[in-house]
Amino acid sequence: MNIHEYQAKQLLDGYGVAVPRGAPAFTVDEAVRAAASLGGPVWVLKSQIHAGGRGAGHFAGDPQKRGGVRVVKSLDEVRSDAGSMLGHVLVTRQTGAAGREVKRLYIEEACDIARELYLGLLLDRATSRLLMMASTEGGMDIEEVAEKTPEKILKISIDPAVGMMPFQARRLAFGLGLQGKQIGSGVEFMLAMYQAFTELDASVVEINPLVVTAAGDVIALDAKMNFDDNALYRHPAIRELNDPHEDDPAEVEAAEADLNFIKLDGSIGCMVNGAGLAMATMDIIKLYGSSPANFLDVGGSAKAEQVVAAFKIITSDPNVKAVLVNIFGGIMRCDLIAAGIITATREVGLKVPLVVRLEGTNVEQGKALLDRSGLNIIAADDLADAAQKVVDAQGGS
Ligand code: ADP
Ligand code: MG
Repeated sequence: MNIHEYQAKQLLDGYGVAVPRGAPAFTVDEAVRAAASLGGPVWVLKSQIHAGGRGAGHFAGDPQKRGGVRVVKSLDEVRSDAGSMLGHVLVTRQTGAAGREVKRLYIEEACDIARELYLGLLLDRATSRLLMMASTEGGMDIEEVAEKTPEKILKISIDPAVGMMPFQARRLAFGLGLQGKQIGSGVEFMLAMYQAFTELDASVVEINPLVVTAAGDVIALDAKMNFDDNALYRHPAIRELNDPHEDDPAEVEAAEADLNFIKLDGSIGCMVNGAGLAMATMDIIKLYGSSPANFLDVGGSAKAEQVVAAFKIITSDPNVKAVLVNIFGGIMRCDLIAAGIITATREVGLKVPLVVRLEGTNVEQGKALLDRSGLNIIAADDLADAAQKVVDAQGGS
């Protein structure tokens, strides 16, 4: 689960991570009140969406292409800028062309920046340990830094038995070129960030930029936090921070129907039972030269309504050019799947080619149902045949 920047800053602040003062606002009036109570003379208005690159982004339809993070110098400017940000669609390199509507702003005191650095903490799957990364190249896309100048990324691997050690934080602080009292502040910052990460079961904490101010303070100017969904039951207060407006509507619908669904960016919609078969189906679509539009596991014992819901979710994606249903009926009955497909297509119509591969329990009844339905279904015999047919049906790879 993802949260907004201002929420991450509030959580981190609770652990002693240094952040600027600020307040969220849902309306223009709230923004002006927040700015007035923070006190000026300079504020930063920050669009709150679950995507980075806001500063360099622009609002759809704005000829001036002004960004999603703006420095303002009077309450009048707070009012007019908040009005041109709230309710408008911000496009950044992370939102894709469709952009994301800004429904909340964060009004923050402006900070006199001397240096912009990078600090990140995440799970390194290769070593099964937490990895803290730091770089002097803050404020930039860290993936780009990693690719072009990997030597500019410092890393420390944290032993879970002892946790993050102060000497490790000092090593990063020196590597970042912190000086004098900044070293102590930097170490405190990193240890607090580590504590927040582990106690809150985060999966990522990223501070980009971490800044050194003109006065020599070390503070988080941006904050991104992701949480491990499997641990959310231990943190009801964090679950409350979920902003449904930021969730993919298809994923929300899938969760309500109890389906394991992840949207991807290919063109072949997949409906499969079992996570392993779903992975294999995605692989074989790739092998035949195309890409899956989603991962969808209807589960081992799906009900007809779930099949209908799954089908609707897949076909409502405009990127889907063909659908592949791949079912191995063990516990699942093929006739039930067939009935679900028929019901769903009657309800929502079938605008793209549909390839169905059924195998296992009641397969003959399932195939017969599909045959009799009069639907334009392409039957496939095995996985390779299904992949070939679905790639051909969408007009090639
Ligand atoms: P994003 O990463 O989505 O673009 P950031 O929060 O990193 O958003 O803001 C982008 C840039 O705006 C920062 O790199 C920093 O230069 C500037 N900025 C952000 N917050 C402040 C602030 N409170 N005071 C001064 N400058 C800021
Ligand atoms: Mg940033």
